[in-house]
Amino acid sequence: MSFKSLTWVVTTLLALLLLLRHVIRRFRYHLLKKETAMLDWALMGKTREEKNKISGTAVICGGSIAGLLAARVCHDHFERVVVVEPEAWLLTEDGVQVESWEQKHKRARVMQYTSLHVNLAPITDGLLHLFPNLEKECHRSKIRFMPADFKNVFGGHKSLVPHEEFGASLPRTIGAGRQGTETLIRRLTLSTKEYPNISQISGLVKGVRADSKNPKFLESVQIQTEAGLKEIKAALVVDCTGPARAGQEWIRSAGFGAGPKALDKLTVSYDPRVRYSSFIFNMPSEVSNKVLEFDEEQATGGLFGYKGDPSITRTACSAMKIEADLISIVCAAWGSAELPDSIEGIRDCLRSTKSSTPIPEWIWKFIDLCEEVEDTMQLSKVRGSSSYWTHFELASDLPANWIASGDSVSGVNPVFGQGGTKAMMGAVSLNNILQEFNMSRTIPEDFSRRFFNDQAGKLKPLWFGNKMVDYSYKTTIPERGETLETGAFLQWYSQKLQTLASKDKQIGSIIWHTIHSYGTSIDAFHPVIVWKVLISTIFGK
Ligand SMILES: Cc1cc2nc3c(=O)[nH]c(=O)nc-3n(C[C@H](O)[C@H](O)[C@H](O)COP(=O)(O)OP(=O)(O)OC[C@H]3O[C@@H](n4cnc5c(N)ncnc54)[C@H](O)[C@@H]3O)c2cc1C
Repeated sequence: MSFKSLTWVVTTLLALLLLLRHVIRRFRYHLLKKETAMLDWALMGKTREEKNKISGTAVICGGSIAGLLAARVCHDHFERVVVVEPEAWLLTEDGVQVESWEQKHKRARVMQYTSLHVNLAPITDGLLHLFPNLEKECHRSKIRFMPADFKNVFGGHKSLVPHEEFGASLPRTIGAGRQGTETLIRRLTLSTKEYPNISQISGLVKGVRADSKNPKFLESVQIQTEAGLKEIKAALVVDCTGPARAGQEWIRSAGFGAGPKALDKLTVSYDPRVRYSSFIFNMPSEVSNKVLEFDEEQATGGLFGYKGDPSITRTACSAMKIEADLISIVCAAWGSAELPDSIEGIRDCLRSTKSSTPIPEWIWKFIDLCEEVEDTMQLSKVRGSSSYWTHFELASDLPANWIASGDSVSGVNPVFGQGGTKAMMGAVSLNNILQEFNMSRTIPEDFSRRFFNDQAGKLKPLWFGNKMVDYSYKTTIPERGETLETGAFLQWYSQKLQTLASKDKQIGSIIWHTIHSYGTSIDAFHPVIVWKVLISTIFGK
C-alpha cells in the first residue's frame, strides 16, 4: 500500500471514529432527555402568566407524595387546583406539623408511613425547583441536607461514589423519613400564602363523568364527602391514588379503556416476595456521640447499606439518621425469611448479609447504642406487594384530560428507595407537557398520550433495573411469560459491575447514577466499561 493510500485509510478511519463518537453523544443526550429528569429541571417551577393559565380546575385524586407534587406543578398552569384526599386529619394542623415526629395521627392508607424511607437525589432536585423555600423549611423541621450517598455495600463491596465528578460535593438530598418527607411536602404545597390556588378537600373519589359534548374528555369528578356526594367540574383529572390504582376503574365505568389495547391487559407484574422490618430510635447526640465515627458518617450521607450477594443470601440491612434525632434502621429479606423485631435481630440480619469484607467495628458499636434508647423503639413490619407497571402509554382509549402518576402507575421493590423518584418523574412529565403548550388555555386532545409517553420513558430504566435485581433471587415469582433467567446476561453483568464498583471509580459512578436515575441505560455499556468487565472475567481481577 502506498503512503498516500495509507494516509487516506487512516484519515477515513479517524473521521469515522469521530463521527461515531458524535452519534453516540447525540444518542446519549437523547436518552438523557427521555430517561431522566436531568434536562427538565430548568422548566420545573416556571409559572405561566396568569392570563395564560388553563381555565378551570385540575383535580388531583390522592394527597400523598405524587398527588402533592402534581398539585404543585398544576399550580403553575391552572386557574385552580383541588386535591381530594380521604384522610381528613391531613387537613388539620397535625397533617402539616413542623415537627412531624410529634404527629398524633398516622396514615391509615399508607402502610409504609413509619417504614424505611430514603430520598434519592432527584426528589430533592425537584423539590428545590418547586419550592424556593425548601432549605428554610427543612431547617425548621430539623431535616438536614446531606450528600446523596447511602454507603451502599453490595456483597461486601463498598460502591465508590463520584464525589470528584461533581466538584465540591455530591448532589445533596434531604435526610428525612417517610413521615418527615410527606409532611414537609404537604406543608409546602398547601401553603395558601405561596400557592393560593391550591386547596384540599376531604373525600373519597368515587368516579368520573365523561363530557357529553366532548366525548374524548372527562367533565367532572364525583367525590364522597362527609356531607354527601359532591361533583366537581374538572379541566384535568390526575389519579394519584397509589397502589389502590382507583382511576382505572373510574375511567372504565365512564366508558373508556376499551379497544385493541384495552386497559385491563396493560398491567405487568412480578412478585419479589420482599419483607421489611423498619426500626426508628430516638437517639440524642449525647448518646450517638459515644461512637466517634457516627458524626462523620451522618454528615456524609446515610450510615450504611449492606445488601448481600443474591447467590449466597437474601437479606439487606441499612441505616440512616433522619429528621431531628431519629435513626432509621431497616432489615429486608427476599423470600419467606423471618424478619427481626429486636435489636439482636438487627445484628443477626446484618450478619446474614454475609459481607465478604469485615463490617466496621463502629457499626456494631452503633447498634449496641440502640439498646440505650430501646424504650423509644418503633417497629413497623411490612410485606411488600408485587411490583407492577400499567402501560398506559399503550392504551387505545384514554380520556384526553386524565393522567396517573406515582404508585397508581407503577410500584417497585423499595430496596433502592425509588418510589419518591417515580412520583417526581410523574410531576416532571406533567410539567414538560404543560410547558409545551403554555400559550394555550385548554388541554389538547393528545395530552394524556403525550404525558404517558414521556412518563414511560423515565420509568422504563428504573423498572428494568429493579426487576433484574429481583430476578437474581430464586424466590422471586417472575412476570407471566418470563422466567428468572430472563435477562440472565444483564443480571450477571450488573453483579459484576457491583463487585468492580468498589475498586473502579468509573464503574462506581455508573452505579450511583443508575440508582439515582441520573444516568442513561447505555452508560454501563460504554466500550471502556465492557472492556473492564471482560478483563476482570478473564483474569479474575
Ligand atoms: C415498605 C416500603 C418502603 C418504601 N421505601 C421507600 C423509600 O425509601 N424511598 C422512596 O422514595 N419510596 C419508598 N417507598 C415507595 C413510596 O412509599 C411510594 O412510591 C410512594 O408512597 C408513592 O406515593 P403515591 O402518592 O403515588 O401513593 P401513596 O403514598 O400510596 O398515596 C396514595 C394516596 O391516595 C389516597 N387515595 C386512595 N384512594 C383514593 C380515592 N379513591 N380518592 C382519593 N384519594 C385516594 C390515599 O389516601 C393516599 O393518600 C416504599 C414503599 C414501601 C411499601
